[in-house]
Amino acid sequence: MVNRKVKLLIPKDRGELIPIFFVLFLICVYVIFELYVILPAIYNNIFTYKEICHLIFGLYIIFNLIGNLFLCMASDTSIDTIICPVLLPSPNITASQSSTNTHQEMIYQHCNWHYCHRCEVNVPPRSQHCHLCKKCILKRDHHCSFLGRCIGFRNIRYYMCFLIWTWIGLFYCNILHVDYTYELVGTFSWRVIVACLFPFGAWLFRVLDHFSLLLSFICSTSIVLSLYILFLIIQQMYLIMNGQTWHEHGKNIQIYSGQKDLQSNLEIIFGRRWYCVLFSPLISSPAYGDGMTFDSTTNEPSNSRTSENKRI
Ligand SMILES: [Zn+2]
Ligand SMILES: [Zn+2]
Repeated sequence: MVNRKVKLLIPKDRGELIPIFFVLFLICVYVIFELYVILPAIYNNIFTYKEICHLIFGLYIIFNLIGNLFLCMASDTSIDTIICPVLLPSPNITASQSSTNTHQEMIYQHCNWHYCHRCEVNVPPRSQHCHLCKKCILKRDHHCSFLGRCIGFRNIRYYMCFLIWTWIGLFYCNILHVDYTYELVGTFSWRVIVACLFPFGAWLFRVLDHFSLLLSFICSTSIVLSLYILFLIIQQMYLIMNGQTWHEHGKNIQIYSGQKDLQSNLEIIFGRRWYCVLFSPLISSPAYGDGMTFDSTTNEPSNSRTSENKRI
């Protein structure tokens, strides 16, 4: 079991370990920087209740960030976790011709399952083969190069929470950096603006010393990263609201989008307790469905009935 989890944490392409270590390295740099440089400077090395509040909130951010990151990476997103049918029915077989109504028969009646030539297995609708993970991924959204794995049915909740907590963490750092700059400089001057916008240029022209270069580099990076993460969150939330994956959005596939309300779309990704999953990665809230059957609007194969909502 432990071996399996460790295997899941290591990407198939070992080259993808570099961005993962870079993400972990950045998290460590920010934690150390805020703890040992920013907070002591703001509170003049005096341990006050305000600093304790900052520490508690900081620890809570780290717990959520690392917890969601670990569960996102340790989740098995592949189709290895399901039993795939060996045979698919002929497209001519319709629901009315089927004799039984078992779950497996329901899947067989609708022909959106497809054969993956690389995995050599029949895979459910919305599953896609990933050339980097070398597997078919259940309800594949996209391959995240920073985490070195695919985001799909089983880990998209943790991925979203990881993004949101990363943004909260960076936003919190930016607020502390403003406090720190004010404590350090007392007022804004052209030197501060140049140092924030062009730290390397300011260092080359001796506006900044080595330590100040490091400080302004970390401060400006946190601003850029927080804007980038916010952009990713907005993009991903747009897809969740539309009931689409990245692949479906790219191919303009809308048969799974349906006409669902906001709550239903959130439940599909975050589960029935969608309103509290952000508070802790340990809150149990399985995603809606089984990753194999989905509400869709499509034409039933070889059937006279036209477009209607059904579960495939
Ligand atoms: Zn495959
Ligand atoms: Zn992948």
